[in-house]
Amino acid sequence: MNRLFIGSLHYLGLIEFAINRTIGNYKPSWDNMKKDGTLPLPFYLNAILTQRCNLNCIMCHEQGNPKSRELELSTDQIFKLIDNAGPVRVAAVTGGEILIRSDIWEILGYLDSRNIELKISTNAYAVTDAIADRIAGFRHIGNVAISIDGPELIHNAIRGRKDAFKRTTEAIRLFKKRGLRVSITSVLQPDNVDSMGEILETCHALRVDRVSIIPFTYKKPGEEALVQKMFPGCTVRLPEKADTYRPFTEKQLEAVKAAIKRYRARGLLSLFYPPFVGNHTGAYVADRPIAGSFVCKQFYQLFVNEQGKMYPCPFLDKSFGDIHTRPVAELWNSDELRDFRKTVALGNLFPFCRRCCALHRL
Ligand code: SF4
Ligand code: SF4
Repeated sequence: MNRLFIGSLHYLGLIEFAINRTIGNYKPSWDNMKKDGTLPLPFYLNAILTQRCNLNCIMCHEQGNPKSRELELSTDQIFKLIDNAGPVRVAAVTGGEILIRSDIWEILGYLDSRNIELKISTNAYAVTDAIADRIAGFRHIGNVAISIDGPELIHNAIRGRKDAFKRTTEAIRLFKKRGLRVSITSVLQPDNVDSMGEILETCHALRVDRVSIIPFTYKKPGEEALVQKMFPGCTVRLPEKADTYRPFTEKQLEAVKAAIKRYRARGLLSLFYPPFVGNHTGAYVADRPIAGSFVCKQFYQLFVNEQGKMYPCPFLDKSFGDIHTRPVAELWNSDELRDFRKTVALGNLFPFCRRCCALHRL
């Protein structure tokens, strides 16, 4: 699909329509989840392969986690995990930084040999011509996901390296030269909220295929205790900010929306997540509840960490079993997980969910 055509689709609002249709399709199973907690087996695997990383970003959710090769699954255990993942057809592999794993090509090759679409997430800092060639060589490569968090100085400050922007943009050029689809994520935060236009300009110039702008997610004091009360032992892996903390103002968010609209008209597929915020900017920045029933897309995905443990979402530290030792079909609708889902769905999720990009309104 050419960029001009995508631009026209955006202009007509059809992309939003397609997203809303997709979310609408979740409704029967989400309603069902409120009754008995069951969900159909997932076809989308979201796998953290390592916590280790060559960058040190200020908004990193993985910062507090122990990082060592010894804590990670071995190559054979990851093969077992893939075998146990049942009907999975798409695998998003992420970290930490996946290129740090010396066995990354074996893992990606194993997924590829099973006709599973690959979505590769990298900070791109270590990407070379040879690495871009290897990634482009997979039969089932879907896209490469990379982050750009600002113009050069801001990106480097956020990412903790003076040459991060230069290396990242060069890696994007290497991927695009090979015809790969590149999607960019930008985490909206106080340091870069006024630079979204420049980020979109960079993405447009680099001919990236898609840009997702997502808010910085945090928890407020008291929210962790609420979760612990509901589910003893379940911790929340989000930075805690004061009750008065606001990452941006309504005016700033409106400017971000205007920049998105401008670049859409120029053919850049750009989206803000969560998508419903566009109509509730004031309530969103003031962190006021927004009326309606909500669904978390993450609940439909098989989310596993570098130890093979299955989690309900990237930010909740509660394991529901090891996928490298047991098939997903045995664990996915276990009594414990069904109880958990039911409670969360009936409570309309957690308070911090309304600051998360995975939230959608039914
Ligand atoms: S690149 Fe990703 S995993 Fe690494 S420090 Fe930055 S946010 Fe964390
Ligand atoms: S919406 Fe809530 S449950 Fe879903 S991924 Fe975000 S924090 Fe987790």
